[in-house]
Amino acid sequence: MSHHEVIILGAGPAGLGVAASLEGWHPYDNNGKNLLNINTKNLSDNGVRPIAHFRELHHPKDNTPYGSNKFNFKKNKRVDWIILSDDAPGGLWNNVPENQLTLGPANWMELSQYPIKQYNYDNKTDINLKEIINKKNLLSYYQKFSEKLKLNDYIHSNHKIISIQKKQNGEFIIYSKFRNLKKEFSCRYLVFALGPKSIKRQLGVTGENFDYINNSYTKPEDFPGKNITIIGGGRSSDWAAQELFDSGKKITYIMRQKEKNHLRLIRESQFLDYYKRWHEIISNKEKNMTILYESKVIRFSKNNQITYENNFKNQTTKSDHVIIEIGGLPNYDLLKNLNLEFHKKYDNYRFQLLQMKVHQHSFESINVSNLYAGGYLAQGTGLSVIGFHAGSFLISGDIIKKIHKNN
Ligand SMILES: Cc1cc2nc3c(=O)[nH]c(=O)nc-3n(C[C@H](O)[C@H](O)[C@H](O)COP(=O)(O)OP(=O)(O)OC[C@H]3O[C@@H](n4cnc5c(N)ncnc54)[C@H](O)[C@@H]3O)c2cc1C
Repeated sequence: MSHHEVIILGAGPAGLGVAASLEGWHPYDNNGKNLLNINTKNLSDNGVRPIAHFRELHHPKDNTPYGSNKFNFKKNKRVDWIILSDDAPGGLWNNVPENQLTLGPANWMELSQYPIKQYNYDNKTDINLKEIINKKNLLSYYQKFSEKLKLNDYIHSNHKIISIQKKQNGEFIIYSKFRNLKKEFSCRYLVFALGPKSIKRQLGVTGENFDYINNSYTKPEDFPGKNITIIGGGRSSDWAAQELFDSGKKITYIMRQKEKNHLRLIRESQFLDYYKRWHEIISNKEKNMTILYESKVIRFSKNNQITYENNFKNQTTKSDHVIIEIGGLPNYDLLKNLNLEFHKKYDNYRFQLLQMKVHQHSFESINVSNLYAGGYLAQGTGLSVIGFHAGSFLISGDIIKKIHKNN
């Protein structure tokens, strides 16, 4: 078994932000004060939300200059940390469709320790901070982030976490699967940053394992043939349905939601080009795009046959491929022995998950000491990477303070 002071689960933007601080890249203000030493509990007690305090330093409201931050980073001694994750740095961005664009500007996706401006300079790129950014550039930025800050030696990819336990002595034991081998790790502090989609939702109908059924979408070339059925209704399935339609496929798009909800998403997303295109497709009543609202799949059969319920009647269609894009959930099953409390965070489109109840000054679980929630998984985070990145300073600051106290 390999032991480390801190283990971070997940190499997405949430895990990377915490790792950078633990590696020793600490934020300082202009007076030379190490901001990880701030007493964040005092901030909280005085009515200042600690996450908002750090967010304001990274993204000052006055925006001067746009995208800059008020931190100066200096290298300190590292603490003993590793990341375990099934993906490379960049998290779920490794697996989104090839041409996927973000919903907000590049600036919102930035991790403060390595500003995108600096990335542009180092790599002779010209990512516009105010514009949405594509998958290729974003992933390259997160990968260079890990390289530049020398995190890569401590990031263990291809580890699928299969179980977590807490021992009597307070240590966590983590079991992972690495190339079919079971591995065991232990740590004093655990950062749970496995992202909002660590378990794919399943339809739970007969025949879901047939070869013509896919649980992810990358690019049109992966789907030869003319007829494609897409099951979903959120932004990911909208992306797949539109890109395939525009590449000449005939689409049957099955969703549970009412037409008015889908149309509202389209209306409220007109700031994005691909939703402008949705408005066009729907207005033109395109014959190659059949959208079945308030419908659900009943079963998949041999010979590529899909049975679904629409208007209280069972109907069938045939497709060369089916793509199921019905989102995912955080894998809290991994923590099921720890008796955690969760906060329900649901809105129309973005937040659709349970968040771990955490102390707002540290993002440590209110139920289990030394367990921290990263990214959207912590109660109190906001939308987008801009909404959760500041939480990484609360987590790393708290862990570093505890380590110093114990030495
Ligand atoms: C199509 C799409 C578009 C999006 N657009 C935006 C946007 O514009 N702006 C924005 O801010 N956010 C957007 N998001 C949200 C996205 O969740 C965040 O950008 C960000 O990736 C979340 O970071 P994270 O580190 O919390 O989680 P993730 O990026 O999900 O990283 C967690 C990592 O942990 C891994 N993991 C999960 N379970 C296990 C396990 N059992 N064992 C090992 N590893 C595991 C995951 O595979 C992943 O690599 C989008 C998401 C999708 C799917």
